[in-house]
Amino acid sequence: MKGLQLSNINKELLDQTQFPSFIIDKRGYLLQWTAACENLLGYATQDFSSGSAIFTEQLFSMAPPHIYETILKSKEAIKLEPLQLLTKTEQLIEAALMASPCQFEEQQGILITCIPMKNIRTFHHDGDMLVHLKNSIMSYFMVVTVDYEGLITQCNDLFLKTSHWTPKRVIGKSFWQLFPKSSTGMQAAEEIWETLQKGNMWKGEVEKITKDGMLYWTDLLAIPIAGNRSFLLIEKDITRDKTIQLQLEKIAYIDTETGFMNVHRLEQLIDEMIQEDRRFSFVYISIDKFYTLKGLSEFNATQTLAADFAKRIKMYFQDSTAARINASDFVVITPLPEWFIQGFLAYLQQNPIYNDNIAVPLSISGSITRFPEDQLSFAQMMKASTRTITNVRKAGGNSIMSLSKEAHKALSRQALIEKRLLLALDQKNLNVLYQPQLDMQTGAIVAAEALVRWMDEEIGVVTPDELIPIAEETGLIHSIGSFVLEQACEQALAWQKQGIPLKVSINVSIREFRDKNMARSILETLERTKCPAHLIQIEITEKFALEAESETAIMKQMRKLEQEGIAFVLDDFGTGYASFRYMQLLPLKTIKIDATFIRAMTQSEKTEHLVRGIIQLAKSMQLTILAEGVETAEQFKILKSSGCDLVQGFYVCKPTTADDVKALYYNKI
Ligand code: C2E
Ligand code: CA
Ligand code: CA
Repeated sequence: MKGLQLSNINKELLDQTQFPSFIIDKRGYLLQWTAACENLLGYATQDFSSGSAIFTEQLFSMAPPHIYETILKSKEAIKLEPLQLLTKTEQLIEAALMASPCQFEEQQGILITCIPMKNIRTFHHDGDMLVHLKNSIMSYFMVVTVDYEGLITQCNDLFLKTSHWTPKRVIGKSFWQLFPKSSTGMQAAEEIWETLQKGNMWKGEVEKITKDGMLYWTDLLAIPIAGNRSFLLIEKDITRDKTIQLQLEKIAYIDTETGFMNVHRLEQLIDEMIQEDRRFSFVYISIDKFYTLKGLSEFNATQTLAADFAKRIKMYFQDSTAARINASDFVVITPLPEWFIQGFLAYLQQNPIYNDNIAVPLSISGSITRFPEDQLSFAQMMKASTRTITNVRKAGGNSIMSLSKEAHKALSRQALIEKRLLLALDQKNLNVLYQPQLDMQTGAIVAAEALVRWMDEEIGVVTPDELIPIAEETGLIHSIGSFVLEQACEQALAWQKQGIPLKVSINVSIREFRDKNMARSILETLERTKCPAHLIQIEITEKFALEAESETAIMKQMRKLEQEGIAFVLDDFGTGYASFRYMQLLPLKTIKIDATFIRAMTQSEKTEHLVRGIIQLAKSMQLTILAEGVETAEQFKILKSSGCDLVQGFYVCKPTTADDVKALYYNKI
């Protein structure tokens, strides 16, 4: 190519050059255009109006302005790095350009030779990896280059498609024009620009604007290139995701029917207020019998009822914040005193809601929980509210109440227990004690009941009677259950290995059995610990039995375990429904008479008869009968004379360690 420099060029020579070439004069007007150029770019000579410089007008509208000047002023051949040429059909072609001053038909001109990118690759032996990288980036991302003054110098098709700019128009436009004119838009542009100026990279989600004023979102990566003399913007259109997110947020935060915030937003707000240590009352208001309100069976009617009710809340509580929790429940956050909150009941009576000109007989149940006096978290406020509303409804409804100090304390303790229990389970801070069961005929210990124990550093001793209901409510019972089972299996096996054939009884809550995998996980534990199934007994309560009877899934699981050799014990017999039906239907082996009967037995002859009767009945059904809570020799004697099989209680031994049980086993009473 160097040979062409300053040479005299004629048309023939031009047609023979290897690459599409053309000649312009010193002002940028076209002097000669070749067939090769026409092939590559689509323009014919006549497409260039004679009165204008082609550099700025057509072909080179994509070229940065300073390059245009460089070419025209250049005294010697220069090579321009690949830039984008615009074809007649508005396609962009990447090409490197050689510009060489020359003589053409007695005129000073500049020969421009286009080297399309494909050929350049073979020329420069670009690593394939880099080419692929570039191509992939170009096809997946919008790419824009901006010069040091913030003027757009290049862009790819994807950018044009999204931004609705035409290539002709966008080159030379400013970077700031890509952002919305709003203050946030301008702030974003400024922040990106400043970061780039410092030679740093900027990355983030940003809102942009199309040529025709439509907003769109991109995930933008802006990087300084060429020693900070220009900047590269690589973007992905995320408008779809962003729109969905914004819609979701809107749906999630506002109740469209009433305009109140919803429970998610309320939670955030309460968290903020707690952080700021602001005093307030959390007023929970629930419309009684919302769906069955007379004359409001139609959905539309209930809708307007909610909206009208919300209006009453707004009117009465004025500047206080209100939220809708669900169809019938609302929360008002207010600094107003209790007497004023109570006044809402009277206000509702004076300002009834009408449906077809008839006042709706509205009654509400409300709860007031104060921060910080009563509860300290959103979850706790909701719990306290639910409990209060239940109390209000039990007392007939239509009133707004607060829980007593003690009730709030109990709730807080429960929350603390929940929190600490998670930790205890995690650190295996629970342990298991065993209470022996004695065979009345032989005087031998034949089994032991596994009873969970928890002594927490912070709370102290938590008895199972307190722990188990909380664990059931929170679902932590599953973890406790599997912990106790594992311990029991290991212990039963250990005793067996020591030649002590004791069965171990475990207590299982109905909630654990509602899990369809319960039987399987019990069997897996047996297998893992290598504990024979016949060493394990499961104690169930009457409440459990009642549900199991109607739930075939639970019954199935019990049958499966029974087949594998696990025996079932009906615990606390007599305290629940005492239905003799269970005894027939469920795969039970043992009936455990509740301690209350044993205690009352020595005081009341009737009870004594009852206990004897139960023992006889169980025996007639081939069930083993066990009496629990046996504390005295007198109780022991009566039970023995009644033919009771087994006893358990302080009289024999308190729940104790496995080692103590072992000692007791050898030390027959
Ligand atoms: P339960 O199954 O009826 O267990 C017998 C309870 O009576 C035990 O209380 C035991 O310590 C106590 N007890 C035993 N003999 C006597 C006696 O002679 N006099 C008196 N006054 N009490 C006696 P504990 O260990 O406090 O357990 C209470 C309840 O908690 C248990 O009642 C059981 O329903 C539940 N529980 C204990 N451990 C577990 C467990 O691991 N899982 C499940 N789901 N529940 C458990
Ligand atoms: Ca039990
Ligand atoms: Ca019991």
